[in-house]
Amino acid sequence: MVNPNAQQSVKLDDLKNFVLDLMLDMEVWNETNTQELNDIKLGVLRKNATQRHGVTRWKLGSDANNLKPKDVEVINIHPELLQERWKAYAAFVLHHEYIHALGFREHNSKFRFMENQWPGNRASKHGSEFTEFLRFKNATWIWSCPKCGKDFPRKKASMGRYKCRQCDVTLKDRKV
Ligand SMILES: [Zn+2]
Ligand SMILES: [Zn+2]
Repeated sequence: MVNPNAQQSVKLDDLKNFVLDLMLDMEVWNETNTQELNDIKLGVLRKNATQRHGVTRWKLGSDANNLKPKDVEVINIHPELLQERWKAYAAFVLHHEYIHALGFREHNSKFRFMENQWPGNRASKHGSEFTEFLRFKNATWIWSCPKCGKDFPRKKASMGRYKCRQCDVTLKDRKV
């Protein structure tokens, strides 16, 4: 967890305003005071984080059964999401974290229902594209199939231990 720089802070603020404005128009939040989300501090994850795109951190001693926006310590967003090309997905991720902040801790069916009300329906596709983008960015080795040419970005060398699932051919290592 790191503090956002000035440029990141401006972008986080823009993202927040965009998401909160949209939430005001969403039927699912009609009865909810989403303006309380406005006060939540936004930050960035470490640049080399690959597994998580956004995280909501709760203040110590919060009542896990009655979580409120004021119990949130910080919401951290992956810094790469602040690039223009990931804007649509960044909004989806922040909306997801805001659902947590409103007290919904688990990714249960109620959570997924609320998440699905977000008016961008390509978000899950963007999510896997972003994961792949991060993998390539953080890879130190590329495992490559000599037959079909598909590349698999990884942090460690494969050392002849893996095969291309499609071709059943042993993958070759290439240092990035
Ligand atoms: Zn979540
Ligand atoms: Zn192959």
